[in-house]
Amino acid sequence: MKRAGGSGNLRPAEPKVFHVKRTDRQEPVVIAVANQKGGVGKTTTAVNLAASLAVLEVPTLLVDLDPQANAGLALGLDHREGHRQVYEALLQGVPLADLAMPTEVPGLRIVPSHPDLVAAEVDLVEADRPALRLREALAARETGARIVLVDCPPALGFLTLNALAAARHVLIPVQSEFYALEGLTRLLQTIRRTRESWNPDLRLLGLVLTLFDKRNRLSFEVADEVQRNFPTEVFQTRIPRNVRLAESPSHGKPALWFDVQSPGAQAYLALAEEVLERLGGRARSE
Ligand code: ATP
Ligand code: MG
Repeated sequence: MKRAGGSGNLRPAEPKVFHVKRTDRQEPVVIAVANQKGGVGKTTTAVNLAASLAVLEVPTLLVDLDPQANAGLALGLDHREGHRQVYEALLQGVPLADLAMPTEVPGLRIVPSHPDLVAAEVDLVEADRPALRLREALAARETGARIVLVDCPPALGFLTLNALAAARHVLIPVQSEFYALEGLTRLLQTIRRTRESWNPDLRLLGLVLTLFDKRNRLSFEVADEVQRNFPTEVFQTRIPRNVRLAESPSHGKPALWFDVQSPGAQAYLALAEEVLERLGGRARSE
């Protein structure tokens, strides 16, 4: 098993610097990774894209907004150890920056979740401006990140609304399986409503095909269907079904750190480059 603890073999031969467009206040670019359909690869995408962005020298903060707390586990944080958690930002007004914890990946920090976050869906109903709590916690203090990725739960409740209201972009993982597009209309409607109510700047960054199996004809059929419906939105990079992506969370590492050469790790690195291009970043050789 190859490990990429050192970063030597992760560096591109020609060093690249990505410039992500920033606002005057150097606010980070916030990307919500959302799809209310369960098990489509949201957390795998959030964790591995975040690690890839960090490896490409973009300081990144991953916010785990799912009570399943899988993103933290995938980066080696066990919620049973009683870390500070995102609930404090949503319901106690703690700046998100104060909750960020380092990870094994230089340049990548995480605000962890906890199973108790399920209570937030109920507690937020009583709160002031319940959909804007994450946005306010983000704005409260500079995080030092240039990109903030938010891993959403498989539902369109207050947690996901908080992510959409705080974000500039939405990234939608779409599983290369039958019924892939099911539910997407509702998600797109929710994005439109969020834009109208709280966040006029919200944009769809793109759809990424996940769990793509090139031995399976169905994967290609789904890819064609997604391509037909979202010709400009779908990313060229397809994330393959790859056992390393499924194994690495149990080792508390992103796939890049677990097996840098694996097709899954390399696909997320390619996706990170595509994401940076779409954000208006351009690569230049130093
Ligand atoms: P939920 O809706 O429950 O939050 P999710 O959308 O975040 O789920 P993941 O947890 O990322 O989905 O993935 C679901 C399962 O599929 C996990 O066991 C994960 O390890 C596995 N998985 C995700 N992507 C891949 C892939 N490309 N190759 C192999 N396994 C994958
Ligand atoms: Mg998840």
